[in-house]
Amino acid sequence: MATIFSRIIAGEIPSYKVAESDRFFAFLDINPLAKGHTLVVPKQETDYLFDLDDDLLAGMVLFSKKVAAAIRAVIPCSRVGMMVIGLEVPHAHIHLVPIQKEGDMSLSNPRVKLTKEEFAEIAERIRNKVE
Ligand code: 5GP
Repeated sequence: MATIFSRIIAGEIPSYKVAESDRFFAFLDINPLAKGHTLVVPKQETDYLFDLDDDLLAGMVLFSKKVAAAIRAVIPCSRVGMMVIGLEVPHAHIHLVPIQKEGDMSLSNPRVKLTKEEFAEIAERIRNKVE
């Protein structure tokens, strides 16, 4: 069965897309640690990030770099942190989280509640900055 992220990539489940290429897809985390918290996923369905072949893994990091620059241009933050956990959804994904301090990266932190309109506005602003 397709993962929830494959269904998002296929457009079967709605998402707030911020970037897409032939190999990767980036969209806002539905339960964000901060405004602009984004997930980057490969279109190829693979559970464990380090099972990706070298070229795909390297490409995913470079794609994440572009998305992180766009997030940083839109969301006031000290930097964009990058994190891989992957215990919830069995489809490799990189978390990009705008942070001010180390503690902002923990998935145990309370999540930010956003309206649909706020999600859509943030996604559009980031999308417009991705080069
Ligand atoms: P992890 O697998 O790295 O522990 O976390 C999975 C992340 O995916 C969580 O931050 C969670 O909020 C996010 N997530 C889970 N299901 C969905 C979904 O259907 N849509 C979106 N946009 N994010 C999701």
